[in-house]
Amino acid sequence: MVGTRWDEPLGRLLGTRAAGPFAGLGLHTAGDLLRHYPRRYASPGRLTDLSSLSPGEHVTVMAEVRRATVRTMRSRGGAILEAVVTDGTRELSLAFFAKKPGALRRHESRLRPGTLGMFTGVVRFYRGAAQLTHPDYQLVGTDVDDEAAALVEATRPIPVYPASAALPTWRIQRAVRTVLDPLTEEDVNDPLPTEVRERVGLPGLVESLRLVHEPYTEQDWRRGRDRLRYEEAFVLQAAMARRRAQAAARPVVARPTTPGGLLAAFDARLPFVLTAGQQDVGAQIAEDLAADAPMQRLLQGEVGSGKTVVALRAMLQVVDAGGQAALLAPTEVLATQHLRTLRELLGPLAQEGMLGAADRATRVVLLTGSQAAAARREALLDAASGAAGIVVGTHALLGEHVQFADLGLVVVDEQHRFGVEQRDALRSRGDEGDTVPHLLVMTATPIPRTVAMTVFGDLEVSTLTEVPAGRAPVATHVVPADNAAWTARTWARVREEVDAGRRAYVVCPRITADDASGADDADLLSGEPDDQGATRPPLRAVEEVAEELATLPALDGVRIGTLHGRMTAAAKDDAMAAFAAGRTPVLVSTTVIEVGVDVPEASVMVVLDAERFGLSQLHQLRGRVGRGTDPGLCLLVARAPEGSDAATRLATLAGTTDGFELATVDLELRREGDVLGASQSGSASSLRLLRVVRDAALIARARDEARALVDRDPALEAWPALLAAIDEWLEPSAQEYLDRA
Ligand code: ADP
Ligand code: MG
Repeated sequence: MVGTRWDEPLGRLLGTRAAGPFAGLGLHTAGDLLRHYPRRYASPGRLTDLSSLSPGEHVTVMAEVRRATVRTMRSRGGAILEAVVTDGTRELSLAFFAKKPGALRRHESRLRPGTLGMFTGVVRFYRGAAQLTHPDYQLVGTDVDDEAAALVEATRPIPVYPASAALPTWRIQRAVRTVLDPLTEEDVNDPLPTEVRERVGLPGLVESLRLVHEPYTEQDWRRGRDRLRYEEAFVLQAAMARRRAQAAARPVVARPTTPGGLLAAFDARLPFVLTAGQQDVGAQIAEDLAADAPMQRLLQGEVGSGKTVVALRAMLQVVDAGGQAALLAPTEVLATQHLRTLRELLGPLAQEGMLGAADRATRVVLLTGSQAAAARREALLDAASGAAGIVVGTHALLGEHVQFADLGLVVVDEQHRFGVEQRDALRSRGDEGDTVPHLLVMTATPIPRTVAMTVFGDLEVSTLTEVPAGRAPVATHVVPADNAAWTARTWARVREEVDAGRRAYVVCPRITADDASGADDADLLSGEPDDQGATRPPLRAVEEVAEELATLPALDGVRIGTLHGRMTAAAKDDAMAAFAAGRTPVLVSTTVIEVGVDVPEASVMVVLDAERFGLSQLHQLRGRVGRGTDPGLCLLVARAPEGSDAATRLATLAGTTDGFELATVDLELRREGDVLGASQSGSASSLRLLRVVRDAALIARARDEARALVDRDPALEAWPALLAAIDEWLEPSAQEYLDRA
């Protein structure tokens, strides 16, 4: 927003000193402050339940004063004012200290019995009772002179802001008023086009801000909040619609099917029958590839639903049509495995230039960051000359120096590890030439429809719902970590599987015991709030657990391997190969095995500290076992107090194998940012009010409106405010850069 009061620095509006603590909350301008929405609303008629205060917590409570007395302290000297406030049942004590009693009289006279107020401070326990020391407080209705006004004030919902110790919620409230009161709709650039706003029946931006920051009734703040929520959904959907329109407008080479080509030869040698879903999705993709607009498709399917074959068939169609395909995996382990799988599936069809190759054959090569120089040079050459029909790799494939003779299709596996920006980087691959490649992204993380609309709104979505017949389901059980008999049984089960010629994964959250930053996975959940205060043992680590298992009588003589992200690519390959071949039938690892690793003999997985993993992630993990004909078993060793979120998550996981149900529960239990990753949900702060599961209907409506608008005006020339909001949403890093400069 340009040159409006919206951009005015808070220092100028509130004074430099007063603005200091706001900067601490990341609020620098009038707009920042106005977008700092109340977290909830207190109502003077409804007191805060004081039974659930925990030590160390910074709280803001609405309570009634019961009594307040000043006395001198004989032991230490000085005076204390002790006040007691109540929610009607329980009490909370407030303590103020001073040298002389006189200094406390002001509080005493304000804290009259029966007065309602909000009190804020850090909870501590003194002689078994909850106490706030020197709390900041605000009494209801006492700041107004005339009685009628006092009555109104006493019934208004009170906004409670995300606050800090340095900045209690009412100071934020006062600052918001100072900034908001003089504003008119003309002072701001509303990103919601008026016509959309009117059609949906929503108030203007300034009016909405007044409704959420200074409501008179509950209906007020709800109406304001709904409009701000819609605005978030609309900006997001407009961004996605514009992305989609821009990508669709780029030139592409149509790659229709070629009779008698590699694809036909491949289909003829497939050892199994494609599932109905694979056939349907395959036909859809074949049609996309034959069109002269770039394919932009998301293929989602349960773990083991057979996405790789679908992708390979698409790649072969492109190769048949004279182009090349790139398959991108999130890790080197997975890329290497894809190479192996593709070569196996293709057999002589992948041996172009070699003895025993089929008449019609192509070359499948690997390109990764840590590859030996000679192998890399050769792969680069094959990609550039067109000798390689299929190039498999990691992010290194995105590198600008990688040249393709004619890149016709990019397949991204396990898309949930790639952000929106990377998708854009992929799309612009073809920019050097005249055309862009078709794009197919695949994910095994089931994505609820609204999340798909939000995060992948620029893609068409196909879903594989069935898993090939004959696959045994994975049984999942929760093992309490402190139950010695159960954990002993866990390792005995591992032994039984190994003795039967099968393999076991043991998954840990960390690599080494002494290294807090050692996890491969930035997605680990922080401890449950109910952990606070309790001392919990450190998280289990790969190296420590591997040593420990080696000493267990139950695993006597069993060879144990390790795998984690800090090993070299070659060491990782060796570890995977030794595990696959059964030389080390137990593999202790981090979540690097999460995505796509396929060892059919793996039948059991033990996850340690399972409560630290998200639901979808655990579902992914357990998809690594039971991939052959043997039934899979997943044992979740966890420390999850009954009734905690963690216990709910784990019980849900044990109770269902439906990935969509799990993803939905996961979303409800966690914030979107956690689930989607900051890079996928845009800037972490962009979804302030929107919840993708709860607001499904609203998001769908916003999407229709946004697509209609973008269809009429793809460049959004008529909507500069919307465009600005989109840019701000899409490029938090650019924004940060500007802030620093
Ligand atoms: P994901 O969707 O998790 O990536 P994969 O593509 O790795 O699944 O497939 C899992 C396994 O199922 C592979 O071993 C693959 O060869 C096999 N598979 C794929 N499609 C079928 C099918 N139609 N019938 C039987 N097995 C199949
Ligand atoms: Mg896969």
